Amino acid sequence: MTRNTNAPAEAGAPNDPLARGTEPSVAPLNGALWLVRHGFPVFPCDHPELNRCAGLHKTCDGSRGKHPAVAFTRAWTLDEAKVHETFARGLRNPAVAVGACSGPNGTRLLVVDSDRPGAIEDVAAAHGQEWPATMRVWTAKGHHDYVWAPAALQLGNGLGTLQGQFDGDVRAGNAYVIGPGALHASGVLYELDDPERPPVMAPHWLLDALVTRPAFAVRRTKWWDTTRPEGYDRVRGLVAFVLASPRGTRNNRLFWAACRAAEDAQEGREDARHALLEAAIEAGLSEREASATIRSAYNRTGATA
Ligand SMILES: [Zn+2]
Repeated sequence: MTRNTNAPAEAGAPNDPLARGTEPSVAPLNGALWLVRHGFPVFPCDHPELNRCAGLHKTCDGSRGKHPAVAFTRAWTLDEAKVHETFARGLRNPAVAVGACSGPNGTRLLVVDSDRPGAIEDVAAAHGQEWPATMRVWTAKGHHDYVWAPAALQLGNGLGTLQGQFDGDVRAGNAYVIGPGALHASGVLYELDDPERPPVMAPHWLLDALVTRPAFAVRRTKWWDTTRPEGYDRVRGLVAFVLASPRGTRNNRLFWAACRAAEDAQEGREDARHALLEAAIEAGLSEREASATIRSAYNRTGATA
């Protein structure tokens, strides 16, 4: 078992059952118990250490540890005894039935799933905002941030105008997320950042973005929706990073992304330079300026552009 090395060091008390260093075999039970005690409806998913996927599906796509073992929109529980029964042996990953979760004053749960650490903070910064401290679960690649949203908005999994800007997804309504205490197929344990920190209300700018139809959705997604070669996630991440650049940071962020792209190209992975140039122009840089920045990043890493 390993841990997301981007997660900050453990700050909790040493006898905290959810503290880092918890035995992986009791982590699913502890995670599930924490969830139901805090009002999050829980259900079991596959666990990567089982010989076969425990998912309900007929054919498994091989992404182990994520497939619901029950019909989760109905078969979730908030009952501790049921949780002990299901998770005592540590062979099921706990997951949260997002749509079944009720928050304060009739709010509903919204989970913001960042595919890399800090992805949602970057989007907030691009909107001139600071991402609030809220309940966070570290995942294999990034983190899940839990926030409350008004029920009237009827959010789904759509990104709205964040499409192409946010390196991640949102989960609301008829959806689920893997919970703390779950083991990812890579060996990373899903862990609460701070078990004492509850979800806060979703910021208005985020809700506005999610319910607005993306005007440039087609343009913004073309780099990764037309072809999906190996390494596309990496290119997509770099492009999203450049697209989300607030004014005054665009050149620096482009330079950083181009350095990573140059390293990738040197190591034989897909070369993102053309996608980065298009993204930089879309973010508001001139073609000349953007080309020069990309060129100097490639020169710096010893590659040629
Ligand atoms: Zn499966």
